[in-house]
Amino acid sequence: MDLYEYQAKDLFDRHVVPVTSGEVCTTVDAAQAAAAAIGGPVVVKAQVKTGGRGKAGGVKLAADADEARSRAEGILGLDIKGHIVRRILITPATDIAEEYYVSILLDRANRAYLAMASVEGGVEIEEVAATRPEALIRERVDALEGMTPALAARIAADARFPENIRDAVADVLVGLWRVLTGEDATLVEVNPLVLADDGSVLALDGKVTLDGNAHYRHPHHEALVDRDATDPLELKAAELDLNYVKLDGQVGIIGNGAGLVMSTLDVVAYAGEEFGGVRPANFLDIGGGASAQVMSNGLDIVLGDPDVQAVFVNVFGGITSCDAVANGIVQAIGMLTDRGDAPSKPIVCRIDGNNAEEGRRILTEFDHPLIEIVDTMDDAARRVAQRAAARLEGK
Ligand code: GDP
Ligand code: MN
Repeated sequence: MDLYEYQAKDLFDRHVVPVTSGEVCTTVDAAQAAAAAIGGPVVVKAQVKTGGRGKAGGVKLAADADEARSRAEGILGLDIKGHIVRRILITPATDIAEEYYVSILLDRANRAYLAMASVEGGVEIEEVAATRPEALIRERVDALEGMTPALAARIAADARFPENIRDAVADVLVGLWRVLTGEDATLVEVNPLVLADDGSVLALDGKVTLDGNAHYRHPHHEALVDRDATDPLELKAAELDLNYVKLDGQVGIIGNGAGLVMSTLDVVAYAGEEFGGVRPANFLDIGGGASAQVMSNGLDIVLGDPDVQAVFVNVFGGITSCDAVANGIVQAIGMLTDRGDAPSKPIVCRIDGNNAEEGRRILTEFDHPLIEIVDTMDDAARRVAQRAAARLEGK
């Protein structure tokens, strides 16, 4: 889960990484009041989960509260790379002497962390890495030893930070390590870390990615979830404990086991090329031991997606036997019908593995006009793509 800048800075502050104070606002009135409370020049900053806000006009200086108001007016509602600005951060303006870059991220390939630092910050770091790679220091951080003060000092020296602020920069690196490990983050990035005119070293921007798998260890992370920015179907799926990811296609996918679902996405995308390029609408893994109830929840979510034109249920019975899956489909359709949401989209089922015959028998007996049983995964993928395409054409 990526955080907003203001959330990242809250975590920085919690772990004693120096940041400027700030207030998040959603209206121009609140922005003006926040700026008035600060009293001097402020920066009005769009809060969106994408970089390059400054270039896109989402970061503006304002001399006083009135100007902050008009800046807020211009920024609220702005579209930054497809993200609509709904919140802004009002923060005291810092007089910047220099802008730097520091980050620490999980480096899975090397089973370690990677720290990066550059005295050429403020700009896009990918550009520095591409054009002046020697200006970006990369240092491996051992996962068990962590960012020791000695390592932090070496990074600050290797990256050629001015000598008089090397201790402060090293402190920031050690602080970012506390954020990373203390919050179970996979990325912490500060661009720019600045040297202010008053000699202080401050994080003026912050990016943090939290590891969702560690959510349960951090009750306070729940409050960081941005319900507005999360797809409503994904929210509902998360509440039902389903592994669901919304994608941008038209074929709903339900399968058991992440590997099977991933390959189902591939075969559907491939088959879809023949039918006007229809694509998978979601990833949904109902898991190894999925009950009828879970299947029912899954169908409810997938059929509730307005983009979905046809659904592919691809199950290889293992721990979940196919009769349970078939009963789940029957139960789900009954439940949705009772609720007044009778399904109207074709459901193509490929059911194989443990107790497959019984599963197919249950569905055949159910004899629902929307359900079609196809024997192989490839044929089922073609069929579901064809049906989705046909419904799209009919629209
Ligand atoms: P980004 O464009 O999304 O990375 O947003 P940043 O928060 O990094 O801001 C972009 C740029 O705005 C920074 O690199 C600074 O040059 C400038 N900026 C941000 N805050 C301040 C501030 O308090 N004072 C001044 N003078 N410039 C700022
Ligand atoms: Mn930045």
